Amino acid sequence: MIITVASGKGGTGKTTIAVNLGLALARAGQPQVHVVDCDVEEPNAALFLNPVLEESEEVGQLIPEVDLEKCTFCGVCAEVCQYSAIAVVAQRVLVFPELCHGCGSCTLNCPEDAITEKLDVMGVLERGRAGSITFAQGRMDVGEAMPTPIIRQLKKWAIPEDHSDRVVILDAPPGTSCPVVESMRGADYVLMVTEPTPFGLHDLRLAVQVARDELGSQVGVVINRDGVGDEEVDAYCEAENVPVLMRVPWDRRIAEAYSEGIPLIDALPEYQQAFLSLYQEVARRVGQEVAR
Ligand code: SF4
Ligand code: SF4
Repeated sequence: MIITVASGKGGTGKTTIAVNLGLALARAGQPQVHVVDCDVEEPNAALFLNPVLEESEEVGQLIPEVDLEKCTFCGVCAEVCQYSAIAVVAQRVLVFPELCHGCGSCTLNCPEDAITEKLDVMGVLERGRAGSITFAQGRMDVGEAMPTPIIRQLKKWAIPEDHSDRVVILDAPPGTSCPVVESMRGADYVLMVTEPTPFGLHDLRLAVQVARDELGSQVGVVINRDGVGDEEVDAYCEAENVPVLMRVPWDRRIAEAYSEGIPLIDALPEYQQAFLSLYQEVARRVGQEVAR
């Protein structure tokens, strides 16, 4: 089962929920728990899991490289490119890596076989273990602008094709843009973490729209810092038939543990059971056998 933990905005406690869900399951004896940090611009799940990273791999996009000895400057590559990422100007072929989507169309259509593909490195994928948890993360290089291809490749690298006997928890980037959509794509369940404030509600609406209405995912909500705001998030969830599966009340001890990199269930062990109940509810809704 793949569970994506997402939020319409940053700072809602998304990573806290993802990490502690994984830890609670692993400590309860659930075999094959994976935590994958898809927030490649600012990965921080490792701060709480302290994984031993065992493998890494450069990640990027295949972009065209033209052999000018073979090229006849016919312009076919520029014609077939949907993204204006390659242009033929006089006796030159210009490639714009920041526009290229790595689709390979230019390479396939070049009549002279003049194009090969080279990897434009955009970041790194890392994998290791945090106790019995299999951990993976992506890190985008400074100055890169496109996290989505890195997330796509991270998911491919980190999630086994047959994951039916595993629990894979993806910590999505915040927001509702393409990288978030990529993190939600293919998930069995999306857990939206929000806080009960007008900003939280505004971003929750957008995030639910993307996950449920555009991707067709099952969605449930975790209300973090419950009690700090108003009842509007609850009213919205009820009206939209989005279940609230967990509430984490505002508690200074949680904020202090977070600032020290201490997982919530270590600081407040009573949350172990709360996270197991959250998982059981998700599993019930997905229709799978509950592990414990
Ligand atoms: S399609 Fe091939 S031969 Fe034609 S301009 Fe592009 S690289 Fe050159
Ligand atoms: S790989 Fe695709 S997007 Fe990139 S230049 Fe070629 S046709 Fe355009």
